[in-house]
Amino acid sequence: MRKTDTHPGEWRWEEDGVTITRTIAWSGPGCHSQCGLLVYSKDNRVLKVEGDPATPYSEGRLCLRCLALPKVVHHPDRLTRPLKRVGQRGEGKWEQITWDEAYGLIIEKTRKIQAQYGPESIAVMMGTGRNIWHIGAKLAYTGFGTPNVCMLFSGLSCYAPRLRVMPITQGFFCVADCSQMFPDRFDNPAWKVPECVLVWGNNPLVSNPDSFMGWWLVECMKRGSKLIVVDPRRTWLATKAETWLQIRPGTDAALALAMINVIIEEGLYDKEFVEKWTFGFDKLRERARQYTPDKVEKITWIPKEKIIEAARFYANSKPAAIQWGVGFEQANSGISSILALQALWGITGNLDVPGGNIINKPTTFREIPPPLWGRQELSSELKKKRIGGKEYPLVPMAQPDILIDAMLTGKPYPIKMAWIQSSNPIACMGADSKKTLQALEAMDFVVVADLFMTPTAMAAADLILPVSSALERDAIRAECYETAWWGPIRTVNKVVQVGECKSDEEIILELGKRLNPEGFPWKNVEEMLDFLLQATGKSFKELREQGAPRYFPFEYRKYEKGLLRADGKPGFETENGKFLLSVPYFEKIGLDGLPYFDEPPESPFSTPELAKEYPLVLTTGARHWGLFSSEQRQIPELREIHPNPITEIHPETAEKYGIKDGDWIWIENMRGKCKQIAKVTASIDKRVVHAQHGWWFPEKPGPAPSLFGVFESNINLLVPYGQQGPSGYCAPYRCGICRIRKVQEE
Ligand code: SF4
Repeated sequence: MRKTDTHPGEWRWEEDGVTITRTIAWSGPGCHSQCGLLVYSKDNRVLKVEGDPATPYSEGRLCLRCLALPKVVHHPDRLTRPLKRVGQRGEGKWEQITWDEAYGLIIEKTRKIQAQYGPESIAVMMGTGRNIWHIGAKLAYTGFGTPNVCMLFSGLSCYAPRLRVMPITQGFFCVADCSQMFPDRFDNPAWKVPECVLVWGNNPLVSNPDSFMGWWLVECMKRGSKLIVVDPRRTWLATKAETWLQIRPGTDAALALAMINVIIEEGLYDKEFVEKWTFGFDKLRERARQYTPDKVEKITWIPKEKIIEAARFYANSKPAAIQWGVGFEQANSGISSILALQALWGITGNLDVPGGNIINKPTTFREIPPPLWGRQELSSELKKKRIGGKEYPLVPMAQPDILIDAMLTGKPYPIKMAWIQSSNPIACMGADSKKTLQALEAMDFVVVADLFMTPTAMAAADLILPVSSALERDAIRAECYETAWWGPIRTVNKVVQVGECKSDEEIILELGKRLNPEGFPWKNVEEMLDFLLQATGKSFKELREQGAPRYFPFEYRKYEKGLLRADGKPGFETENGKFLLSVPYFEKIGLDGLPYFDEPPESPFSTPELAKEYPLVLTTGARHWGLFSSEQRQIPELREIHPNPITEIHPETAEKYGIKDGDWIWIENMRGKCKQIAKVTASIDKRVVHAQHGWWFPEKPGPAPSLFGVFESNINLLVPYGQQGPSGYCAPYRCGICRIRKVQEE
């Protein structure tokens, strides 16, 4: 039952001397899922945060991370003034300076490096905060004039691959339909309850990933949806599923192809949709024939009967939706897994139908702001210099595995300056954490912008800029519609000011104006936001005044109505107007246009000799209830729930290695080792262990070599660079090998 909105249409009001501001969480810390917040504040202090019942997306619900926001905002360890390094790198000696001095230093170093090595020698690297993606690109392209912008982790293995592939194969981003396109949600008469939801490599009850909330699934289940869950771990959803497919990590493409095989060979596909709207069906059918359930049982470790049962259940359910996690991208055959998964909703006619997988394009306008904003301003000569551009034409950003090598070797040309915004690659997503550190240490100048001192900032920064949290900034939640998430446009509304912190938007605009005044013509952030909102016909203030989120008209079956293509004709906005089951463009650039399975580079099958020494499959990266990747380790209330890093081990495996629940254990392979606490659980296969990622310890000494203990429990010490897939996207974060042993007194 929804709570009542006590102040409909208002974005800020007073109650008993306390100010209440309606806003959303759309940037660090915590998440970027745009849940609605009511923030209680007085005298520039946040007193508490509650869920906003007027946000249909979250209906008043919040998870621990947002409830803890007051502790984050006013934490004594917040960075509050720009800091300039005065000792050696990693020594932890800093001098507070003014923003003007900080900007002056950046300009001086930028000009020097640009003059000596060219603008392409500057690399801009960002984290996952949604608000910074478009403006960070703008700073790189228009401000620094460099083509090298990316996230610093192997294979760009987060949402980037799917954001690249879906616009090619079907024109736009696509998501499971849980009624989120409508403000009246589950009551909307156009929406249908999915008969089946296939939850694949995803635990949305814990992670609430990327604007998809776990509670929506529970609401669907209450209304009759049945689940198929594909996961190496028995999650809560897996325990509620009709079928749980306990997959060997990294073999998703094989499973999806086997399901396609069953669906096609048993005639369970949607013949009318396939004939009228898809391209490449016969080729897909031939490819899928290679993946029989018998063969795929051996690859995935899932009994063939279960594969067949799941394929039939998904295909016979009308409608059926698929919700999938980034585990797809965090395996080397990720692009193939994405192609195969899309083929499942394509051949079963579950695309853009109520309760299926919907194309999240509103009918009124395309995208705000453009993806990779400012890229068109680069000269063609500079565009050609993008690191990895020749090797990986599919990747529009710098390719991080090649970038890391360029930072270390100066080839194909020197990289001399790193701009790292809201990202902590040494502790979080950087593969081979020590190599990541070495690459940053090789830079002449490193700027880190963040909320807290992190291992990355401590180890590598010459200059640290203090960044505002989600409650300290004016911004818009309006992310590239064409390529990314569904969702209503909303404003993020500033509640308090902490120290001299500035929002990412302020930092980039102020610095951009100094670097290239013509490229940043806006007087202030509000003017820049107004510019970005032009297509909506609303200014920032008008949008904010309306209080509630602004939903845009949404229609199903847009491909039938001419609502997807730029020319207004029926079909899809793809190279031939069809939904692509086989991708001609991929073939043109030397990639396989069809999905296929590629064994992980290190596994019991691809490297049997190595696997004798490292016999367990290592998977990583499942999300925590109270922590978002490497964030929130400073917050006592959240650390109480997650005091230490955890590795899940099957009871038989634990017994074999003499490990008890709660023991500290080493997880190690040929690259390195880290220690975590054993959680002995039958939820995981006895041949697999799962280790948490993102661990560092703000309570430990900051200066090197400790760097807040970042190399003690960091599972990415075992994950390499250089094993990206053939497209340059996706890397085997979730499907390596390891061995385990109890930590002795050593
Ligand atoms: S999912 Fe949780 S952390 Fe993310 S915005 Fe929503 S309440 Fe906040």
